[in-house]
Amino acid sequence: MSQLLEAFRLAQLPDAAEAFRAEVRDFLATNLAPAAPAVRARTWMGFDAAFSRRLAQRGWVGITLPAAYGGAGLDAFRRFVLVEEMLAAGAPVAAHWIADRQSGPLINKFGTEVQKDFYLPRICRGEAFFCIGMSEPNAGSDLASVRTRAARVDGGWRLTGRKIWTTNAQRSHYMIALVRTSGAPEDRHGGLSQLIVDLSLPGIQVRPIVDLTGDAHFSEVTFDDVFLQDDALIGDEGSGWMQVNAELAFERSGPERLYSSVVLLDTWLQSLRKSGFTPADAVLLGGFTTQLATLRSLSIAVTTKLARGESPVVEAALVKDIGTEFEQAIPAAIEAAVAADPARGVEVDADLHRTIAYLSQISPTFSLRGGTREILRGMIARGLGLR
Ligand SMILES: Cc1cc2nc3c(=O)[nH]c(=O)nc-3n(C[C@H](O)[C@H](O)[C@H](O)COP(=O)(O)OP(=O)(O)OC[C@H]3O[C@@H](n4cnc5c(N)ncnc54)[C@H](O)[C@@H]3O)c2cc1C
Repeated sequence: MSQLLEAFRLAQLPDAAEAFRAEVRDFLATNLAPAAPAVRARTWMGFDAAFSRRLAQRGWVGITLPAAYGGAGLDAFRRFVLVEEMLAAGAPVAAHWIADRQSGPLINKFGTEVQKDFYLPRICRGEAFFCIGMSEPNAGSDLASVRTRAARVDGGWRLTGRKIWTTNAQRSHYMIALVRTSGAPEDRHGGLSQLIVDLSLPGIQVRPIVDLTGDAHFSEVTFDDVFLQDDALIGDEGSGWMQVNAELAFERSGPERLYSSVVLLDTWLQSLRKSGFTPADAVLLGGFTTQLATLRSLSIAVTTKLARGESPVVEAALVKDIGTEFEQAIPAAIEAAVAADPARGVEVDADLHRTIAYLSQISPTFSLRGGTREILRGMIARGLGLR
């Protein structure tokens, strides 16, 4: 236990990263069109290619990628600040998000020189949007049982199978797919590889799925004997499992696992400033602020490890688990606080209610996407030597 706590020494961002914050705020003040809170609350689900390209022109897509490939070559702390400010402002980051956070760094780490030369500059210019094809209809938590298969043929691969819940597949240029290149699902982690799939190829069908809120942000993707060139393979054949796990530490620990409901918190605060607040409101607000400060510190501690090149998988799982719990508690508690005083509720603007409604419907997904609560707790238990 003490070893795990040791991994979370309270952390602070370096001064250079804090100085960068002013530049980000300036950029957002001039480049982010005003939007209603319920729109801003979508932030990392909000897809706006034009915004992503403006960010790319500023040099902040692929912010941690090397300058040789068009990246900004900045450290993980500055990326933390950039992400934190964009989510707090409710910027629509979805178009470039996955390439910036995961696919670009993955290609940079495991790709060949040819792959890096081709994909990374396009990512950094905001011209190549990526999605992640891990989950399948019968393989979500249990990724080792994926059935989508790529068979070796002359000059490349033939890909057949189906992915589901793929965020923004319908609007992305490429998918990094986890597929079986040898063996059977019973072989578990052995025989899995990652392939870069150009989603415009013949034999690929992308069917958007509408969620409870009416948004279609993810898709089902079917591959029917799709031919991929040899160089679709990223990293080593059979190393897909190891590569995916390295990627998940990036996916699970960032500010996005704390800030999904922050636009609502802010909207509620502004509403309270107009209507006045009760002692119960103040206690709730104080509680959220304290939790956010602590969680943020934990997230920075994980970023520190990522910046050192470590792979803090267990710490990232812990931050995601308690971070998403916090994000889910906010809409439930604010809805209850507003409902507790109906007379005041009538006065507050419709924007607050729309934002509560959106987040109440979407927040159950926070503890599913990127790995469910039960799976993360299993990993934490293993990290503590309990399994
Ligand atoms: C908004 C959103 C976006 C997503 N985007 C993507 C994406 O871009 N790419 C992608 O590949 N996937 C994506 N997903 C899919 C997501 O990763 C899966 O939904 C998730 O991993 C769970 O898999 P599943 O839905 O198959 O549920 P299952 O794995 O069937 O799980 C069902 C329930 O059983 C529990 N459970 C399963 N196994 C165990 C176990 N061993 N011990 C204890 N409990 C267990 C789970 O915790 C869960 O509560 C997205 C999902 C959402 C909601």
